[in-house]
Amino acid sequence: MRLIFLGPPGIGKGTQAKLISKKNSLAHLSTGDMLRSHIKQETEVGLLAKSYMDKGKLVPDSVVLEMVRNRLGAPDTSSGFIFDGFPRTKAQARGFEELLQSLDLFIDQVIYLIGDDAILLERLSGRRTCSKCGKITNLIFSPPKVEKRCDQCGGELFQRDDDKEEVILKRLDVYRDQTKPLVEYYDKKGLLVWISGIETVKEVAGKIEEHFNDKPTKESC
Ligand code: AMP
Repeated sequence: MRLIFLGPPGIGKGTQAKLISKKNSLAHLSTGDMLRSHIKQETEVGLLAKSYMDKGKLVPDSVVLEMVRNRLGAPDTSSGFIFDGFPRTKAQARGFEELLQSLDLFIDQVIYLIGDDAILLERLSGRRTCSKCGKITNLIFSPPKVEKRCDQCGGELFQRDDDKEEVILKRLDVYRDQTKPLVEYYDKKGLLVWISGIETVKEVAGKIEEHFNDKPTKESC
């Protein structure tokens, strides 16, 4: 199974990709996580990426495609994968297609998670990440038992720089301009599965799995 999770920032792509990849033994490939890891390690890619990410802009296609090319060479991707947050532009989608063709691989489905801006803004501004284990918490929907501490490991919770309100608004604009056109792109290829992302984590995960072998239309979701 090779899947792409497409949708606006804050809709829950990362949460769902983590859950479903674990349950189905697929590699979870988040370009956002890869870039944050480069930033942490202060690599050349990391330094470049940070200047874009802090402003809510997309990192250049050539940098992201090269990173994806390298990541796909790792053995854990051979039994299938979920791409989360990639592709994000038509150029990335085309480059990805060429890369897959050269590897004799194809995408089975593109899971498109939908939700409106008010919900996304609320989710993203309340989002906190554990500095130790990476678990995501939301101050509104799943507040931590102890203030500023992760329920799972006790690590300190922090707000991502790009989850500040002015950056979130920019990210939503960028999504509309550069990523949303991919909905039509993949729909035309007959790969798109429309799923509402606003229900609970468990409900959304259930719906995604229900549709693994099925391709609903916009009207049925
Ligand atoms: P995410 O963790 O997916 O929300 O991504 C956080 C940020 O990383 C985005 O706002 C972009 O600046 C950058 N980023 C992640 N994935 C991509 C991508 N496929 N193309 C360009 N920039 C990306």
